[in-house]
Amino acid sequence: MRIAIIGTGYVGLVAGACFADLGNSVVCVDVDAKKIASLRKGIIPIYEPGLEGVVKKNIAEKRISFTTDSAKAMKDSEIIFIAVGTPQSANGEADLKYVFKAAETIAKNLNSEKIVVIKSTVPVGTTRKITALIKKISGKSVPVVSNPEFLREGSAVKDFLEPDRVVIGSENAKAGEAVKSLYAPLNCEILITGAESSELIKYASNAFLATKISFINEVANLSEKAGADVSEVAKGMGLDARIGKHFLNAGCGYGGSCFPKDVKALQHISKKAGYDFRILREVEKVNSAQKTVPFEKLRKEFGSLKGKKIAVLGLSFKPNTDDMREASSVEIIGSLVKAKANVVAVDPVAWKNAEEIIKGVKFSDSAYEAAEGADAIVLATEWNEFLELDFAALGRKMKSKIIVDGRNVYDREKLTSLGFKYIGIGR
Ligand code: NAD
Repeated sequence: MRIAIIGTGYVGLVAGACFADLGNSVVCVDVDAKKIASLRKGIIPIYEPGLEGVVKKNIAEKRISFTTDSAKAMKDSEIIFIAVGTPQSANGEADLKYVFKAAETIAKNLNSEKIVVIKSTVPVGTTRKITALIKKISGKSVPVVSNPEFLREGSAVKDFLEPDRVVIGSENAKAGEAVKSLYAPLNCEILITGAESSELIKYASNAFLATKISFINEVANLSEKAGADVSEVAKGMGLDARIGKHFLNAGCGYGGSCFPKDVKALQHISKKAGYDFRILREVEKVNSAQKTVPFEKLRKEFGSLKGKKIAVLGLSFKPNTDDMREASSVEIIGSLVKAKANVVAVDPVAWKNAEEIIKGVKFSDSAYEAAEGADAIVLATEWNEFLELDFAALGRKMKSKIIVDGRNVYDREKLTSLGFKYIGIGR
């Protein structure tokens, strides 16, 4: 099929590259001319494992192209995906201005029968609103289908090609089937629902995962007071098939471009529908408090942090991405800087993006260099390279061997035997 993707960010680029790889002819559109120019040269603007290979292969095989000319891209396509951002607006609602703008452009360029697919995460009712908007501008009835995306940054290509499920919300059976056929080569369940259900599945899934994280963080905080070890508790809970072991890792809170904004947006969706989704307020509160835990542990350890050298390992909101949106490291480092600590921040990839938002710290690309003379190390993001450190060598460089494991990934016994004071979360 001939596909246009409006918005070539994390989701649009991955979806475009993967649809091309499945044999479709894809044109990715973006308003960001710089991004499009580098993509044309095969330079990927984001760090995402495996993506570069898929993009380059499909450029070479002429199945994917990149443009800023949205009108032409739309005219040449049968299916148009909207994959623009839906950031949080000032009051916490999803800001739909980019989605509406994309829909307007589509409405002005309807030269043949098209199917519009909303891949962006949008509030319940948006698919119907976009259908009406396109009709109002163009005078034509165009099927608009909801098809939320569930990929995770850091494993986006794999997630797109091997999803747990694909959800397609459509009021038009023929359009729903056409979108379904795009995913037919993938070995997964394809669920067809109404548009509203599809839109809500996305928010409910993200909010549930965020709830699971905040829940285990509450258990971690209780474990500390009650003398339990949350790692053991989580393992025991996770062995119950009804609970499952995923997303039961206590730590210094969730971040990223989706969970914080989607939890907030779902509360607004609920409010507008006349329902108070109470539990989500607490999920947010627990998460904000959790981001301060590593700092509080250091403060408890040192009293004043003035002049203390602290190495912070991992800056991106999670490993294998350069995305700094809502990263816990920002909160941790912000508090340390305010307390006049000397911070050296380390990240193998995200340091470039981090430099733009974190001020008053030194950056390093080596944990060993950062540890030189350090009073403590804080692990904020569990990149693989921080899991495989030579702790004996690291310890020799430090002034005092204190480690705050913000992700509960280190072996407490091993570190203790090397003379470290190990401080985990809920352990
Ligand atoms: P992003 O900010 O990385 O990319 C959005 C892109 O859209 C940008 O490149 C921007 O320049 C472009 N854009 C904006 N308006 C445009 C227009 N009118 N025409 C063409 N391009 C335009 O965003 P993202 O992370 O890819 O997220 C996109 C959507 O997918 C959001 O709704 C998000 O909630 C959802 N989502 C994201 C993820 C994720 O992990 N990032 C996962 C699932 C769903």
